[in-house]
Amino acid sequence: MPELRYDPIRQRWTIISIERGRRPHEYITGKEEVKVDSCPFCYGNEDRTPPEIFAISDGPREPNTPGWKVRVVPNKYPALRIEGELRREGVGLFDVVSGIGAHEVIIETPDHFKELSDQDPEGIVLVLKAYRERLLDLRKDTRFRYILVFKNHGKDAGASLSHPHSQLIATPIFPPVVKAELVSAREYYSRKERCIFCDIIKQEIVLRDRIVWESDKYVLWEPFASSFPFETWLFPKYHSHDFALLPDEELYDLAVALKEMLMRIKILLNDPPYNMVLHTAPPPHPRPGHADYWETLEYDFHWHIELIPRITKIAGFEWGSGLHINPTPPEEAAKYLREVETL
Ligand SMILES: [Zn+2]
Ligand SMILES: [Zn+2]
Repeated sequence: MPELRYDPIRQRWTIISIERGRRPHEYITGKEEVKVDSCPFCYGNEDRTPPEIFAISDGPREPNTPGWKVRVVPNKYPALRIEGELRREGVGLFDVVSGIGAHEVIIETPDHFKELSDQDPEGIVLVLKAYRERLLDLRKDTRFRYILVFKNHGKDAGASLSHPHSQLIATPIFPPVVKAELVSAREYYSRKERCIFCDIIKQEIVLRDRIVWESDKYVLWEPFASSFPFETWLFPKYHSHDFALLPDEELYDLAVALKEMLMRIKILLNDPPYNMVLHTAPPPHPRPGHADYWETLEYDFHWHIELIPRITKIAGFEWGSGLHINPTPPEEAAKYLREVETL
């Protein structure tokens, strides 16, 4: 069982693999690239993954056989484990939470070479549906405080297999990045009775210098204080706190916007490695002692997708200071991204 350990000085949680500790040489020898015919995410190799949790296919099909369009399986090497009891305990002055969670892989297509950006919006819709279904299902488990959906593209962004896939990790604590966002949104709402994200969207659309692309319902822009060059955000222009509550008819427009974001980054920066994260509302499970926790969530939070191309390395200054140095101003990044021809 992994453990979550809290550092009271840096105020930071870390997931630590207790029993399967990696030895030094395992970090030094680079992993061999998996050959296509032995890829566990390709058709015919369904038995090389743990049994599937969810799949989308055109017609009837046996689980764990070919014929699927999107397939969700548990991660073979999970960061957190689904079985077991949730323990929260103190070890001296430190806090430890048992490593309960879920770690799943969303295989976006049977085609080993078809990246998410290459898919038609219809294909991207199926991936978004899989995200939505897994969020709704995992939220029923009250041990989980948050479910984070993310995608690592390319080796330098942390992807160990090249077959197009996304992942999700459900955690028994609030990830600090998510918590900071939720707290800011709630505080802003309690002062102004407005959604901070809606206010920023309105302002960006008027100013225009950081806008990359927009449609009737969605907008892409470079955040004012971008931590990374070409950091890009995708927001619904209408207020919506929870991605998992989107009806089917909203998903097509979102898929078009997501494809625009991925294509522009891919074309401009020559298919860089990237990380993409879905920020959506947490499961609003009641928490004893926090009566006001989710009271305004529906009004104060606004779901969105964030993407960073992995084109700069985090170095000593960033690690030591928690400050990022971004060599490309977001206004310039937006201009470059606006000018990309995606058709
Ligand atoms: Zn494959
Ligand atoms: Zn809003």
